[in-house]
Amino acid sequence: MAQIDKYGIRDLKKDFGTEKNCLDFIFDTLHSRKCSCGGDYSLLKDRRQFQCSKCRFQIAPTAGTIFHKSATPLNLWFYTILLFSNAKSGISAKEVERQLGVTYKTAWRMLHFIRKSLVQDKRFLEGDVEMDETWYGGRKRGGVQNLNRSQAMQNKSVIIGAVERGGEMRAEVSPNDRAKTIGSFLDRNVNPVLNKRLLTDESNRYDKVAIGYHRHTVQHNLKEFVKGDIHTNTLESFWSHVKRSTKGTHKVISKKYLQTYLDGFVFHYNNRHNDRERFLRLVDVLLPSSKVQQSLFSSSLF
Ligand SMILES: [Zn+2]
Repeated sequence: MAQIDKYGIRDLKKDFGTEKNCLDFIFDTLHSRKCSCGGDYSLLKDRRQFQCSKCRFQIAPTAGTIFHKSATPLNLWFYTILLFSNAKSGISAKEVERQLGVTYKTAWRMLHFIRKSLVQDKRFLEGDVEMDETWYGGRKRGGVQNLNRSQAMQNKSVIIGAVERGGEMRAEVSPNDRAKTIGSFLDRNVNPVLNKRLLTDESNRYDKVAIGYHRHTVQHNLKEFVKGDIHTNTLESFWSHVKRSTKGTHKVISKKYLQTYLDGFVFHYNNRHNDRERFLRLVDVLLPSSKVQQSLFSSSLF
């Protein structure tokens, strides 16, 4: 396997060490230095504005991005992005507060806006695809031996996921684990024409909805977890990574924010091979120029 390309604090200091470094980077990502009048844009002193040397037109490069109207220095923003990018088990607002010396509220909001921008890709998964569901959260265990099982399950959320063997992951918080819900997730994420095999457990909820798919199953209820290369182990280990990480790092995640945390884990999974690429991809995602993204961050007044 190719060696993982690192991106650490020394790289960050070199590329995004000062407010000016960050503003230059954001400007050059979203705009051209050449104005249509023939002049050149340069940064105004002590402001987040660039001005044309000839026609004096001004551009605020952070407009429409998560950095807009944020009083937090941009180099701290990029430091937070690096911390998030390199923390494969997640990073808590408490940790960012400590490392950057910002308030808890600022740390929480920076992490929240980063996660909020990691919307999952809509591309259909191809080839061999594993699909599975898991119950997440709640304080009590939901084992079959538990007499208060229904009560314990009420506090849990259902997460449905699918993953390409050797490829990308999709996962979403769902209202329930009924056949119809599973079918809807399947239709939106896996295309039967592009799908080689659909690998699931024996659940009969798939019977009605996985029509047209080449479904292969393992009998989890008979303690059969692997049959040749038929298994859902990639997803099972992703579920346990999410559960272990959130327990260790975040302690408790409310249902309201669970999807954005999940999007963060899916982003890490889908960009797992290269630290530098993951950081740059994250920066790229955070510097959108589309209207959809702008409306996402229009409420980022802090
Ligand atoms: Zn000009």
